[in-house]
Amino acid sequence: MPHTLDPELRRALAERVRFCHEMGIYDFYRRERRSSESATSEHSVAQLDDPASFTSQELREEMPARKSAVVTKAAKIADENSIIAITPKPEHGVADPAAALKLIREDLGDCTRCRLHQQGRKQIVFGVGNPRAELMFVGEGPGADEDTQGEPFVGRAGQLLNNMIKAMGIRREDVYIANVVKCRPPGNRTPERDECETCSPFLMRQIAVIKPKVVVALGAVAAKNLLAMNASMSELRGRFYDFLPAGARSIDASWEGAKLAVTYHPAYLLRAPRQKGEAWKDLQMVMKFLGLEPPKKPAE
Ligand code: SF4
Repeated sequence: MPHTLDPELRRALAERVRFCHEMGIYDFYRRERRSSESATSEHSVAQLDDPASFTSQELREEMPARKSAVVTKAAKIADENSIIAITPKPEHGVADPAAALKLIREDLGDCTRCRLHQQGRKQIVFGVGNPRAELMFVGEGPGADEDTQGEPFVGRAGQLLNNMIKAMGIRREDVYIANVVKCRPPGNRTPERDECETCSPFLMRQIAVIKPKVVVALGAVAAKNLLAMNASMSELRGRFYDFLPAGARSIDASWEGAKLAVTYHPAYLLRAPRQKGEAWKDLQMVMKFLGLEPPKKPAE
């Protein structure tokens, strides 16, 4: 079974990590347990009062143990900020999601925040679709066709995604489609963790203003980045996760987050068509939640 967290703990952890990122802190380290701390307290709600400790516990398997002054800096900031701070963003307070998305795009600008800006990208692929979509699809990153056209999922994988959307009884323009990273990784390689961490706050902001009912993560990279969870596709699929992007609550208190489902990336389905049935099961779960019916076949 995947290692899952209580949604409240996950939300608090995501907000703490995001806050630290905004402070320029990307590495987290395990704090030595004090003798007075019992082993059974490791994942208790009380740890929300000490997010630095909680964060390092959860991330230690992913983070190499290194000595650094950052440890002291992170611990100091965490101790000084028991109340989670969210830096105001230009779109905060903007009720119209289309206008808010425009502000996020402007904030992104001609982005040079990660190395992907200088590795052959033609343009930034921001996202496309209905700013009020109930359903969002999130992929990994743009490929060659997307890089050329400036729109996510327009190549062969995009055609398959279109077919998947159509099979759900809706149109591509009804949903919103975006990626974890907005610039094409060279040679269509998997985006590196630091690239995802640098770019994904913009995706989180897009999700926060669109406020979909369901987010479908296409493939393991999208799923792991959205859920901050390390698990195999077989473990990740087949259920809904409660998902709230960091900062969302401060933008609209009435939105309680989305359900997140994981399915195979269409590019993988092109290589492994026998898995299409499994992907269809995932989409049927989403359709049931959204009350969607597949289109009726024309009468013979
Ligand atoms: S991938 Fe994202 S963070 Fe990196 S340069 Fe492109 S837009 Fe900026």
